Amino acid sequence: MSEQYDVIVIGGGPGGYVAAIRAAQLGLSTLCVDNFIGKDGKPALGGTCLNVGCIPSKALLDSSKNFAHMQHDYKNHGISFDNAKIDVGTMIGRKDKIVKQFTGGIAGLFKANKVKAAHALGTVMGNGDVKLTQGEKTTTVNGKNIIIATGSVPFSIPNVDIDNKMIVDNEGALNIKETPKKLGIIGAGVIGLEMASVWGRLGSEIVIFEAMDSLLAAVDKDIAKVAGREFKKQKMDIRLKTFVKAAKIISNSKGDDQVEVTYEKNGEQATETFDKLLVAVGRKAQSDGLLADGCGVELTDRGQIQVNDMCQTTAQNVWAIGDCVRGPMLAHKASEEGIAVVERIAGNHGHIDFNTVPWVIYTEPEMAWVGKTEQQLKDEGVDYKVGSFPFAAIGRAVAMNQPEGMVKLIADKETDTLLGAHIIGANASELIAECVVTMEFQGCAEDLAMIIHAHPTLSEAVHEAALNVDKKAIHKVN
Ligand code: FAD
Ligand code: NAD
Repeated sequence: MSEQYDVIVIGGGPGGYVAAIRAAQLGLSTLCVDNFIGKDGKPALGGTCLNVGCIPSKALLDSSKNFAHMQHDYKNHGISFDNAKIDVGTMIGRKDKIVKQFTGGIAGLFKANKVKAAHALGTVMGNGDVKLTQGEKTTTVNGKNIIIATGSVPFSIPNVDIDNKMIVDNEGALNIKETPKKLGIIGAGVIGLEMASVWGRLGSEIVIFEAMDSLLAAVDKDIAKVAGREFKKQKMDIRLKTFVKAAKIISNSKGDDQVEVTYEKNGEQATETFDKLLVAVGRKAQSDGLLADGCGVELTDRGQIQVNDMCQTTAQNVWAIGDCVRGPMLAHKASEEGIAVVERIAGNHGHIDFNTVPWVIYTEPEMAWVGKTEQQLKDEGVDYKVGSFPFAAIGRAVAMNQPEGMVKLIADKETDTLLGAHIIGANASELIAECVVTMEFQGCAEDLAMIIHAHPTLSEAVHEAALNVDKKAIHKVN
């Protein structure tokens, strides 16, 4: 008879490992199956987020930000350096250490919470059976409940073959050994812009090819406009309505490898040569080897695991969460879905409000938002009012030499309920939290306006924007 568990989680990313820990906390016997192999060739928990996503990208963003500030901003403070340098190997090594610390940390948490881990490919067989494949060896385990949390993998595009040396995806972009003189990027989305920030700050000339006719289409237009202006100042050459047709590796006159990109803009074809090319055109749900014929779990026409609002799949007692199902591909969304599902399995109430999932893009300035954009509200015919405030009028932002950006709040015209918050500026990633809390409590712009905000802090921009919703801001003409 196969080993029995209350819960088998397939996938050890922020969806899966968080679900497994909470399941064990609730007293459920839990197995987490994951097949990720880390950079050192050993099994590593944490999925995309910890190994090749959120954490390593933020480590590189921070190193490169410090370097850029040294070069361009510290002189305003009267601080000067002779010939500031960055050692890319040390920067990558620091990132690898952080990744190892956190992936190892999950193994420790599993042990402490008595979650059993298996390094294997998990396949859902039906009737609670999960086949575990480790090389040639297979075993079968059985779960009263199965949670699929297999995440996502990058999309590829025709005629552009990733080798993760010259033509890289997110994984390769985090391991470039020396700053490319000229970096081409396909896709001005979240990964494209964050990686453009890293390598641009280290000195790469950046060219981004973007198929859409506007930058950051999902972001509130006022915020996207400021972002576009700031990226231009950072010399990111973002080419909209430009379609990459092919990329190939060539040798230049010195015998060095380069990437030749063929693209089309305004009906004309052209080629351009780069030292490296990053492909960042979105991600797709991962289901390779996951579903045995007849297991009852169905996919949508987009290849995602089909789920209802409760994260139940089409098979009984099989649930799915995170990047492999509908909704935004964000680590915190995956984790919250995991917790909600496990609470439901345990007979408790599992809650997740998709209207209050915050987004952050860690460029400089950072962008963060929650809820509806002004465009969405217009399209939905909702009557709204807007309040905004620039960081240029916030003492702390100016003292920090980071006056760029603004806070924009949108509230229901009649009830004043906060419907959306959009921030571009220093520490936007942290400032968005109080707007999320306000929205989660169905609070109003007036609630934010009546809360005492410490002075001098960046959060005063949120306060003033809330006051400005009813034209009561103090430090700007309403
Ligand atoms: P994943 O993290 O992808 O984990 C899935 C795991 O399941 C993997 O380990 C995979 O190997 C394993 N697996 C797959 N199939 C099987 C199988 N059949 N059997 C066993 N194991 C299997 N999000 C944020 O919120 N903030 C950020 O700053 C951020 N930055 C990012 C930066 C980059 C470069 C990238 C690529 C992504 C970033 N994301 C960020 C997105 C975030 O990483 C994902 O939303 C998140 O990891 C999804 O979690 P998950 O648990 O659903 O899947
Ligand atoms: P994305 O969806 O954010 O952006 C992809 C971009 O590529 C889009 O602008 C799209 O128009 C463009 N594109 C698609 N096909 C193209 C083509 N053939 N030629 C030119 N442009 C093309 O995807 P991503 O940047 O790959 O990131 C994937 C996901 O990972 C994100 O959507 C996000 O959910 C997650 N992520 C989150 C963070 C964060 O939270 N800070 C950071 C990185 C990644």
